[in-house]
Amino acid sequence: MRYFNVRINVTRESYFDYDVEADSHEEAEEIAKSLVWDDALDDDLRQHAEIVDERYDAIQEFLCGECGKGFNENQMTDDEACPACNTPIPEEEFNV
Ligand SMILES: [Zn+2]
Repeated sequence: MRYFNVRINVTRESYFDYDVEADSHEEAEEIAKSLVWDDALDDDLRQHAEIVDERYDAIQEFLCGECGKGFNENQMTDDEACPACNTPIPEEEFNV
């Protein structure tokens, strides 16, 4: 088993109508905005949310068998070894 850290980046959009009492368009929009930012419409936002963009970036993580240091594929040396003690990462732990 190999270990990975996956950065999840999901963009959601939420469209729905909500009735408010106000004296002008601007006030109505300000009230709606306040309700959103005060988390008063969380249930509506969640209920109407659709994923419009998603991205998943995995980085493989390693634990050096020699010195015990944890590191990821961006931190290993150029010749694929532990950055702390320079022990080569066993080939079977790699995606090749
Ligand atoms: Zn090491």
